[in-house]
Amino acid sequence: MKVPDSKGYFGRFGGKFMPETLVFCLAQLEKHYRKIRTSRKFRQELGYYLKEYVGRPSPLTHAVRLSGQLGMKIYLKREDLLHTGAHKINNTVGQALLARYMGKKRIIAETGAGQHGVATATVAALFGMECDVFMGEEDIRRQRMNVFRMQTLGARVIPVSSGTRTLKDACSEALRDWVSRVKDTYYLLGSVIGPHPYPMMVRDFQSVIGQEAKRQFRQKEKRLPDYLVACVGGGSNAIGLFYPFFNDKKIKFIGVEAAGEGFFKNSHHSASLVRGRIGILHGTKSFLLQDAYGQISEAHSVAPGLDYPGVGPEHAYYQQIKRAHYVAVNDAQAIEGFKLLSLCEGIIPALESSHAVYYLNIMAKKKANRNKKVILCLSGRGDKDLEIVQEWIR
Ligand SMILES: *Cc1c(COP(=O)(O)O)cnc(C)c1O
Repeated sequence: MKVPDSKGYFGRFGGKFMPETLVFCLAQLEKHYRKIRTSRKFRQELGYYLKEYVGRPSPLTHAVRLSGQLGMKIYLKREDLLHTGAHKINNTVGQALLARYMGKKRIIAETGAGQHGVATATVAALFGMECDVFMGEEDIRRQRMNVFRMQTLGARVIPVSSGTRTLKDACSEALRDWVSRVKDTYYLLGSVIGPHPYPMMVRDFQSVIGQEAKRQFRQKEKRLPDYLVACVGGGSNAIGLFYPFFNDKKIKFIGVEAAGEGFFKNSHHSASLVRGRIGILHGTKSFLLQDAYGQISEAHSVAPGLDYPGVGPEHAYYQQIKRAHYVAVNDAQAIEGFKLLSLCEGIIPALESSHAVYYLNIMAKKKANRNKKVILCLSGRGDKDLEIVQEWIR
């Protein structure tokens, strides 16, 4: 299997739906990426930063009490233990190094809740690069701490006042800025979304999750797992875990989307793969949340990192060929997952990851899943979400 193809398609999904000027930037980017991805010097340098700065490899922890309670053998891939507390840093370190190789002096990024913005500001400081982060005014208001965190790291946060003043508008604005300053600017995209080559590049940088997990699981269990489970926003932590196991056909992949509050019925509030329709957003063809007129709907979730109205094209493809199964978990259930892991294992999970944790409950109800071996991607730590959960419980 070889996806994407040379035009950036994963089956019928993906591609490069962009104005001429950007198609040129993207082609340049792809050319450089293809050159460095196999270069020994680049791989060594990336390996160095992943180990010495990010803190890889992350452990694969056997969750003993949770396993006992659910009747399955559950391992947690501990992305929560990385520098900055989530998997996003794997991608930002990789792309920032690429930017440096390309001779760029300035990095721009979009951010919703601010987590990708923080991960980008972090590596920009590390490599001494100028950094501008586009963020919707509505998100700036909701996430003041992350705005200050980015500023502390030396980044400029640029408010976006168009549209719904949230992530999708920040993404559009970043693309617009990139066209106008492509000479010195690198656009560091935060998930497996956007035009080709981003979904491929971000997947490659996040695949370190699955590569390590495979090696670690084999060492502990002398075999491969039955299930891989991960939450899906844009889909980068999930694809990072799944991709290295793609050809191990017996292993089932489960992607857990956020259903938000209006759980099913007629609401299109979240869960692009479970509830969305095919469309084009930010240069890629995939499943999107849309209203009856094809307008992009806003996504809503308690988990700040899960409210992008689209999903990566590779996930759309995996769903189409039935390589992965996608399900949705709502806000209240995610909060239960949050409490479950905190109490059972002494690990406070990010609300995004808590969606995946909750789904283990549902799997455990099936008799056929008794004693099955599962790797769950714990994409981040939950310290950032304590206030949200406190509000919720109150
Ligand atoms: C951003 C984020 C996500 C969602 O992004 P993906 O690209 O789907 O991985 C999930 N978990 C955490 C902790 C995040 O910060």
